[in-house]
Amino acid sequence: MIYLDNAATTKMFEKGVDIYKKYACQFFFNPSAGYSQAIDVRHDIDKTRQKIKDTLNAEKGNVIFTSGATESNNLAILGSKRNGKWEYVFSSGEHPSVYNVARYLENQGFIVHYVKLTENGQIDYEDLKNVVNEKTRLISIMHVSNETGAINDLSLINNIRQKYCPKALLHIDGVQAFCKIPVNVDELNIDFYTLSAHKFHGPKGVGALYARDVSCLKNIVYGGGQEEGYRSGTENVGGIMAMGYAIDNIDITKNYQYVEKLKKCMENELETVKGVNIIKTESPYILSVSFSGVNGETLMRSLQDKGVLVGIGSACSTKKAGNRVLENMGINQDKIKSHIRISFSEELSLDEIKNAGKNIIETYQYLLEKVK
Ligand code: PMP
Repeated sequence: MIYLDNAATTKMFEKGVDIYKKYACQFFFNPSAGYSQAIDVRHDIDKTRQKIKDTLNAEKGNVIFTSGATESNNLAILGSKRNGKWEYVFSSGEHPSVYNVARYLENQGFIVHYVKLTENGQIDYEDLKNVVNEKTRLISIMHVSNETGAINDLSLINNIRQKYCPKALLHIDGVQAFCKIPVNVDELNIDFYTLSAHKFHGPKGVGALYARDVSCLKNIVYGGGQEEGYRSGTENVGGIMAMGYAIDNIDITKNYQYVEKLKKCMENELETVKGVNIIKTESPYILSVSFSGVNGETLMRSLQDKGVLVGIGSACSTKKAGNRVLENMGINQDKIKSHIRISFSEELSLDEIKNAGKNIIETYQYLLEKVK
């Protein structure tokens, strides 16, 4: 099998599974309990908190453990919501875990702006300038698009915020960037940053929200007051420790340079073929491509039969018709229908990429002949 859907999820590091087991069977204590064994566990999960802060280059601020990015995004947006005539700014390319919260706010009567996307998948920075104002409470924009791999310029976004709405909070959904692309939340004045462990070889069902100043957050889950009251519920200790292991064992710069070669190699293979249309984006981890005349889902299924697994967009949106993000980039329906997403990991070899590239081309040409 050649697994090319790493933006949907990644394989856990095997040693991370061992760490999980250690904290499930040996150091299984509830981190909120009072005896020394439990206090040790509490200190251990705090080490993962620090690793997250170090990776984000955050001098101060808090890390709140959650069940993953969907919850982190909900917490950042709904937890920082205040009553009054506030306005909210999102991009129209956000993942459903942000976009559907935006729709909820709209239904609650808040004024919500959706910043347009340009044809390269980034947000339209001019449009952002136009929609922000002194009533803006929060700007929530993703770091890297899970659909296209476009990287939004966080420095530009921060500059716009500082100039036009300095009081507004800035939330970044960093799911496709954390442990893949360097980020400095201090330099960029980012208030909230979302991450999810299963996107970087950690377990599913665990993630975190970094908050520069937690005092602008209110809890959205009520309970025993864990995570300093910002997220009640016993922490997923094993998951948190395995996430920490993954952070320790990822070399962002080395992986970036290597994965860049993989993406380039795949682009070179595919580009030679008529009908193939690549959306050129910055993240080396995601390649978005359409195959004129062939249905993307059909291509995905035929490739699956050959042991090559690709995505057809965000796994969370495959059940829905169309693709909101690509539509918002102005891509026509024919291209959207014939679109697949190839996403990489440093665990892939160049030979596997070449092999998969050949398979994709052969399958495309075979399917094209069939529809003629
Ligand atoms: N945001 C982005 C950009 C994503 O790619 C995903 C996962 N597809 C999520 C949020 C949701 O992550 P989780 O599955 O951890 O809730």
